[in-house]
Amino acid sequence: MALAYYCANCILYFREADLTEGRCPDCGNQVKPRVVIGGVVLGAEEDANSDQ
Ligand SMILES: [Zn+2]
Repeated sequence: MALAYYCANCILYFREADLTEGRCPDCGNQVKPRVVIGGVVLGAEEDANSDQ
């Protein structure tokens, strides 16, 4: 199990090590932690449906 961090602004996932002070390294937006099991991101559908 691992965590990925989703930026709704960039529509990208980042690893914790890629974050800048806990935020998206590209745009500085807040990211949402997501659990990744076997390469599958849980809650990804929810992210895709989000307008933010
Ligand atoms: Zn971003």
